[in-house]
Amino acid sequence: MENKIKIVETSNIFSKIIGAIVVAAIVLIVLKLVNGVQGKRAFSAELGGDSAEFEESKDVKVRFSDVAGSEEAKENMKDIIEFLKEPEKFESFGAKTPKGVILYGPPGTGKTLLAKALAGETGAEFIPTSGSYFVEKYVGVGASRVRKLFNKARKKSPAIIFIDEIDAIGGKRGDGQGTSEDAKTLNQLLVEMDGFKDKENIIVVAATNRLDMLDDALLRAGRFDRHVMVGLPDLNARFEILKVHAKNKPLSEEVDLFQVAKQTVYMSGADLSNIMNEASIYAIKENCSEIMLSHIDKAMNKIIAGDEKKDRSNISDMEKKITAYHEAGHALIAKLLNKESVPKVSIIPTTKGAAGYTIINPNEKMFQTKKEILNRVSGLLGGRASEEIIFGKENITGGAANDLQRATRMVVTLITKYGMSEKLGLVCFDDREISLENQIILEETKRVLDKIYSTTLNYILKNKDKLNLIAEKLLENEIIDEQDLDALIAS
Ligand code: ADP
Ligand code: ZN
Repeated sequence: MENKIKIVETSNIFSKIIGAIVVAAIVLIVLKLVNGVQGKRAFSAELGGDSAEFEESKDVKVRFSDVAGSEEAKENMKDIIEFLKEPEKFESFGAKTPKGVILYGPPGTGKTLLAKALAGETGAEFIPTSGSYFVEKYVGVGASRVRKLFNKARKKSPAIIFIDEIDAIGGKRGDGQGTSEDAKTLNQLLVEMDGFKDKENIIVVAATNRLDMLDDALLRAGRFDRHVMVGLPDLNARFEILKVHAKNKPLSEEVDLFQVAKQTVYMSGADLSNIMNEASIYAIKENCSEIMLSHIDKAMNKIIAGDEKKDRSNISDMEKKITAYHEAGHALIAKLLNKESVPKVSIIPTTKGAAGYTIINPNEKMFQTKKEILNRVSGLLGGRASEEIIFGKENITGGAANDLQRATRMVVTLITKYGMSEKLGLVCFDDREISLENQIILEETKRVLDKIYSTTLNYILKNKDKLNLIAEKLLENEIIDEQDLDALIAS
C-alpha cells in the first residue's frame, strides 16, 4: 500500500508541473478554474454567524460508488467504515481506532465528496465546516467554536466532522504567519482529538491542497495520522467520472465519453462534472432532445478557455496576426517536436481574457524524461519565440506572460526537485526551501530557460514555412483542428 501511494504521489506532483494542456495566450486560466472551485467554499464559512453554529446533514445520499476513480483513497478508508459501523469490534480486539484522516490533493478532485460518501455509507451524521470559520481576531472565539463543534459531534455520534481547508487553522506554527489566536485554535483542536474516547465514534476528516504546509503536531499519531492522497484523475478515472455525471442525462449515441476522457488530461472531477453540466445547458438552449458531440465540444472549450467573445470589433488586424503567430508557434512545437496531440488551435478571444489558445493533450505517462520536460518548456516558449521571429525583438507582446510563468515553474521544479541540473546536482528541496530570491536557483533557472529559448528560436526558424502555413490558416479560419494541422505540417 505504501508503495502504491508513493507512485501516485510522484505522478501527481508531476502532473501539476507539466500540466501544460492549454497554452493560452493571456490569462491564468488555471487560476480562474481554481478560484471557481473555491468560490463554493465560502459557503461553509458563511454558516458562521455564531448563532448559526454547525449545520449537520442527516441521511447523506452520497455513496462510494458516486466517487469515480480514487480507488486507492476509497480502499484506504474502508476500515473507517467498519469502525463507524461496529466500534465494539475494534474495542474488543484492542485495536487502535482511527481518529483523523487528511485528504490532500488539488481542488475539485472529490475530497469533500469522499468525506460525504463516508457518512452516506455508514449512516453517520455529516458535520461540514471550513478552517476559515475558526479564524477570528477576537480572543478565544476560534477555540470556543472548535469546542462547540466537537460537543455537537459528541451529541450526534456516530458522526463525521469534515473540516475543509484545514490549513487555515493547521498551518505550521512558528513560521511567523499565524497569530497567537490561530495557535490557540489549533491547540484546542488537538486537545479535542486527544480527548476522544474510542467509543465516542467520531471521525474527523480534513481536506487540504497542501499537506506539506500543515503543522507536524496535527499529523502525529492519534491525531490526523492517516494521510490519503486524492490526485487528479488518470484516463480511466476520467472516463468513470464522466460516466457518473452522464448517468441521468440524455446522451446521444455519437458521444464517446472515452474520447472526451482522452481530451481532458489534467482536469479534475469538478471540471469534468462542469463539462457535462454545461453540455446539457447548450443542448437545452438549442432545443435538442439529446446532448450531441457539438455540445460537449463547446462545453470543453468553455471550461478550458471561457466562452467565445461575441464582440470582436475592437481587435485590430495586427493584434490578430500576432495572436495567430503566437498560437502557431505553440502548435508547431507541440506537434512537430513533442509529437503531442493538438485537437484545437483558436484565435477567437474568450471571455476569460485569452486572445487565443492552443489545446495540447500531452502523452500521459507516469514519468517524463528530462528531454521531454525540456521539450515541453520549449512548447510553452514557442509562442513568444514565434512572435520574435516574425515581428522582431522590439515588438514582442505581454501575451506570453502566462506561458513564461509556467515555463519558469517547470524549470524550477526540474532543477530543485528532480535533481536534473548539473549546477545544483542531485537535490530535492521542500517547497518552502525554494525561492527565486536564492541567487543560485535564479541564475540556474535563467540559464536553462535562455538555453531552451534559443533552441526554440532555431527550431521555429528551421520550420518557418510550416509556421507561416499554420498562422495563415488561422487568420483565414480562426480555428483549426487536428486534421487541418496534420495536413499543414505534412505539406
Ligand atoms: P474537493 O473537495 O476536492 O475540492 P469536491 O469533492 O468538492 O472537490 O468536488 C466537486 C465536485 O466535482 C463534486 O461534487 C462532484 O460533482 C465532482 N467530482 C469531483 N471528483 C469526483 C469523482 N472522483 N467522481 C465523481 N465526481 C467527482
Ligand atoms: Zn502562449
